[in-house]
Parts: sequence; structure tokens; C-alpha cells
Amino acid sequence: MKAIVIGGGIGGMCAALALEKSGYQTAVYEAVSEIKPVGAAISIWPNGVKCLNYLGLGAPLRALGGNMAWMAYHDFRQGERLTRFSLQPLVESVGERPYPVARADLQAMLLNHYGAQRVHFGKRVSHIEQDGDGVTAWFTDGSEARGDFLIAADGTHSVIRPQVTGEPAERRYAGYVNWNGLVAIDDSIAPADQWTTFVGEGKRVSLMPVSGNRFYFFFDVPLPKGLAEDRSSVRADLTRYFSGWADPVQQLIAAIDPTTTNRIEIHDIDPFPTLVNGRVALLGDAGHSTTPDIGQGGCAAMEDAVVLAMTLQTHSLGIEDALRRYQARRAARVADLVLKARKRCDVTHGIEPEATRAWYQELKQESGERILNGMRETILGGPLA
Ligand code: FAD
Repeated sequence: MKAIVIGGGIGGMCAALALEKSGYQTAVYEAVSEIKPVGAAISIWPNGVKCLNYLGLGAPLRALGGNMAWMAYHDFRQGERLTRFSLQPLVESVGERPYPVARADLQAMLLNHYGAQRVHFGKRVSHIEQDGDGVTAWFTDGSEARGDFLIAADGTHSVIRPQVTGEPAERRYAGYVNWNGLVAIDDSIAPADQWTTFVGEGKRVSLMPVSGNRFYFFFDVPLPKGLAEDRSSVRADLTRYFSGWADPVQQLIAAIDPTTTNRIEIHDIDPFPTLVNGRVALLGDAGHSTTPDIGQGGCAAMEDAVVLAMTLQTHSLGIEDALRRYQARRAARVADLVLKARKRCDVTHGIEPEATRAWYQELKQESGERILNGMRETILGGPLA
């Protein structure tokens, strides 16, 4: 049995690795000739880490992951600490650590494990067709590929999604812009073993450690869509938006490299129940696009991959039956993650100003218990809990 996997991002590569572990042949087709991830880094929470462990990637992941032992929130003006707590109770209760990793490192790890030379780069799928025996994908260069089934991991702008769900999906602007990048760790900005976040005015500035003595940083600002801002204006834009913020934030703005800082208008898509049509299954952002507010989009893609492969391996009533079961196991979980992230987004970014003000007050009384309980619930909802 052979699977065609469309897309060589986190979702596609995890799907290919998981399917091969379950005894399927795979062929991965990726539109671009070199993958340049949209963000600088990603936090892989224990539900995602367990999926990578399952794929045999535990040791390389640990080598790439930052040591994120603590979590702290600071007020934006003077920078005073609102709360600080250890992540160890979370680690102990869920049985795994979180690992923030640079995206380029994660992508290289996945490609190397699969065999980068095996991926068909520069193959952009234009449309697909299925019949009783399999699926054919056509590419924009006029070539085609055929397999017994097809996994569409072609991201949030998926061209295959409408052929599965029967309708186009509207991307919804979440109301804020995110700038992100990597910068050398500097203890005078934030401790090297801590996820540190400055909050105020519906904005956020956050730092997480990744390997190579680097911080993954991001800035969030609620803004209208479509402003004429890009890398050439990034330092001036951040200086303006974060005027009056505490010294560590000013230091960070001075330290960033504008030429490698990404600016992203954050979107999601209303959850939809159909992930499968016959021999074609959506996976990762193609099947569920979320705001990054609970850091679960990529983790959910890893979960999809593991559930897909396990379901195919453990059911013998045929591909279509197994894919339907994959959909049944994933649809509610991924809808829940998208909606949880949307709710968090609105509180964090002043979209619901009353809720945002209440959250800033809550942080002053936060012992860590409430935040860690929320994370624990999300993590334990994963397939390898
Ligand atoms: P993608 O990464 O988009 O990959 C899709 C691939 O398909 C691409 O390589 C693309 O070139 C290819 N492709 C597209 N169209 C075609 C076509 N027609 N034919 C062939 N190939 C095609 N998630 C977390 O878990 N933790 C985090 O901390 C986190 N932080 C985030 C921060 C930001 C700012 C953003 C924007 C997202 C964040 N996410 C996070 C979400 C995460 O990045 C995504 O969920 C994840 O990258 C989805 O992987 P994917 O493989 O499904 O899609």
C-alpha cells in the first residue's frame, strides 16, 4: 500500500514517518524547492513531544530543545514580575517535557530522518482525482503521481481541502500581528531557562530558550490587517508600538536582526467536521488552522500523523474505513484546540478588553496552578496521553 503525501512541512513529514513505521510506502511531494518555515521557532508541548518520541525522534529533539524550566509574566511598564512558577509539576503530571525548538532545526531533523533526498521538491499539486482503487495527483509541471490513498498536508491555504470538504474555507483574521525571530540569549533581558512574557495594552513580548544559546522571541500587537510594514521598518515599528515599555523590551528591540524577523498577520479557520473524503485525508493546518495562542497547531499535526498511522495499522476493513475512523478520532479534538486558542487570543490581545483587564489582575495572584491546569488538560487530550 502506498500513500501520496502532499506537503513536506511538519504535518507531511510526520505523516510520512508515521505511515512508514506502520508499514506503508510513502512518496512526499513538496511545492517549493527549499522549505523556509514561516516562523523562527515553535514550542512543542508534551503531547507533541510524545508523538515525536513515538516516531523515534526523542533523542534528536532533546538535543534541539531549549531548557524551559520556568514560566514568568511581567508588567509592561516597569517590568515588575507578576508571577513566576516552575513547569516541573506539569512535566511530572503529564510524563514529558515541553521543548521549544528553532523551526529550521525541526524541519531538518524531520527531513533527515525520512531522507531529504527522497522528497520530491518543486512539485506543486494542482488537483487530485480518486476512483475505487486509488488517488491521482496532478502537479503544475504537468506530471502526475498515483497512490492507494492521499494525505493532504498542504497547509492553511490547502488546494486539496475544498475537494474534501466540498466548500472553500474562509481564513479569519484574528486581529493581531506577530513578529518573531531568534536572538542570542542575554540574561539581562530574561533568564536563560525561562519562558518570559511581558504583558500590557493588549500586547505581548515573549522569550523562550532554544538550543545554540538562542532565545525565540515574539511580539504581538493588535492591529488592522494589511498595514504597509515589512522587514525594512521592523525596528521603527516595534519601537513605536512598545514605546514606554520596560528596559528588557527596549534591549530586545535593539538586539533583533530585522533581516531575519518575520511579520505575520495571524489567522485561523472556523473548525469543520470533514477531514476525509474517500481515500483522501486532510492533516495538519490543511485540516485545522489555529492561532498560535496555545502553541498547539504543529503539535496537533504531529498528533494527526500518529493517529492516522495507528488507525490504518490496526483496522483491516480497508483504507476508506480506516480514514473515516481517523476523522472520527480527530475532528472533535482539533476543533477544541482551534476554539481554545481563539478564546485565549481574544483574552490576551484585548479583543475582549474587560477579559484582558481581568487577566492582568489574575496574573498578580497566579501561583501557576491555574495556568498549568489549563495546559495539562490540553496536553492530556492528546492521543498518547
Ligand atoms: P505547513 O507548515 O504550512 O506546511 C505545508 C507544506 O505544504 C509547505 O511546505 C508548503 O510549501 C507545502 N504546500 C503548500 N501547497 C502545496 C501544494 N499545492 N502542493 C505541494 N505542496 C504544497 N504550533 C505549535 O505546535 N507550537 C507553537 O509554538 C506554534 N507557534 C506558532 C507561531 C506562529 C507565529 C505561527 C504562524 C504558527 C505557530 N504554530 C505553532 C503552528 C504551526 O506552525 C503549524 O500548525 C504547522 O507549521 C503546520 O504544519 P503543516 O505541515 O500542516 O503546514
